Amino acid sequence: MMAAITAAWEGGEVTLLEGGERVGKKLLSTGNGKCNLGNLRLGPEDYCGADREWLGECLSQFGTRDAILFFRKIGLLIKDRNGYLYPAAEQAAVVLDVLRTELRASRVELVTGCKVESVCPTGGKNAKTGFEVRAGSQSFHFDRVVLACGSKAAPKTGSDGSGYRIAEAMGHRIVPVVPALVQLRCEESCLKEVAGVRADAQVNVLSRENGEKLYGERGELQLVDYGISGIPVFQLSRRVNYLLREQGGHPKVEISVNLMPDYDDEEFERLCALRTLLLTDRTVEEFFAGILNKKLMYLFIKLAGLKRETPVAKADEAKMAKVYRLCRDWRLWVTGSNSFDNAQVCAGGVDTGEVGRNMESLVVPGLYFAGEILDVDGRCGGYNLHWAWCSGYLAGKNAAGNAECEEVHRV
Ligand SMILES: Cc1cc2nc3c(=O)[nH]c(=O)nc-3n(C[C@H](O)[C@H](O)[C@H](O)COP(=O)(O)OP(=O)(O)OC[C@H]3O[C@@H](n4cnc5c(N)ncnc54)[C@H](O)[C@@H]3O)c2cc1C
Repeated sequence: MMAAITAAWEGGEVTLLEGGERVGKKLLSTGNGKCNLGNLRLGPEDYCGADREWLGECLSQFGTRDAILFFRKIGLLIKDRNGYLYPAAEQAAVVLDVLRTELRASRVELVTGCKVESVCPTGGKNAKTGFEVRAGSQSFHFDRVVLACGSKAAPKTGSDGSGYRIAEAMGHRIVPVVPALVQLRCEESCLKEVAGVRADAQVNVLSRENGEKLYGERGELQLVDYGISGIPVFQLSRRVNYLLREQGGHPKVEISVNLMPDYDDEEFERLCALRTLLLTDRTVEEFFAGILNKKLMYLFIKLAGLKRETPVAKADEAKMAKVYRLCRDWRLWVTGSNSFDNAQVCAGGVDTGEVGRNMESLVVPGLYFAGEILDVDGRCGGYNLHWAWCSGYLAGKNAAGNAECEEVHRV
């Protein structure tokens, strides 16, 4: 939609082919129906996949301010919640409405129910004679094509990975695609006992070779009966899925969860020593009360091999120490993630090494890319939609005009 509008503003005669019955279905489910469409704090470091320098050059041509101005221009009011941008109406449907209205106002011809199967450069890859686009019994001819088919995430919304096949058939390399921003599934059946608990945590992914921390994220961890979820987990999921992919057989990745991330080792030791001095006349359950969520503490007492009703004076010291250790370093084995159906985005996609900073293919001139089909995936917080706006703007602008980019308010 962004590419089509921008190309039309550039004077292009634009046709938008959409496989579904309506455009922009995925937008409706974004941000829990409120659409977190951007972020005031945004840079290449908020993304993975593509080369940082390439991303930086793309984002510098269409940043958050440009996106705000674009939306203002098409009638959408935006509000800022601690840097996270939402439509003022707090409804994703409103964002889709203004985009669809602008498609109409800009005279973009919209063809829905048109599932593209192939895009072929007519007269060979370098001939610049245009493209034949086939969709079922329909066939179209265009001078230039922007491929913006999305990824494989949430295929119910229309993005089923067909864009990768179309790009691959034209000679593009596809970086292996895995679900990202998705829940992780764990081996431990005891998670059932703590399902529903949410807690602030530092979640670290550990190396299989030496147990050292590879990646880490802090935020609200959500425990579910089959594994772990929440923003820190979502943010680690692309890396965990690639680690799992590298392993053969029955892959698994070790995670360490620190449920007391505000304490460093020294502070934590002081705290334990103090509690041991003060709380001598308690049962094990009473002794450990007041530190963590109750369900979690019951689980840790059980995992340490203690009974809740045992007086602390009679409790095994090593087992007591294990409860403390679990609070700071609870190990879980991740065996996989939820599928593409549950993923918010995909990692992988069209290799950006074969795409110019104007979004034009370096393999097939006249072919452009926009959005998640590219090997670019962002953190939670409006970054993925910003990438869709930014790359869509660049693809549309350059496909139509192939001119140097101007600032959006001068379009
Ligand atoms: C539940 C959920 C919540 C999310 N929340 C947020 C959020 O709050 N903030 C954020 O920044 N990001 C969020 N995202 C991610 C964001 O929605 C996507 O990154 C973004 O929509 C990608 O835009 P796109 O245009 O590349 O792909 P899509 O939005 O998937 O659009 C691709 C379109 O191409 C069509 N299509 C696909 N193949 C073909 C074909 N062969 N022929 C014709 N048409 C085709 C599809 O039907 C679809 O309409 C969320 C994603 C999900 C699933």
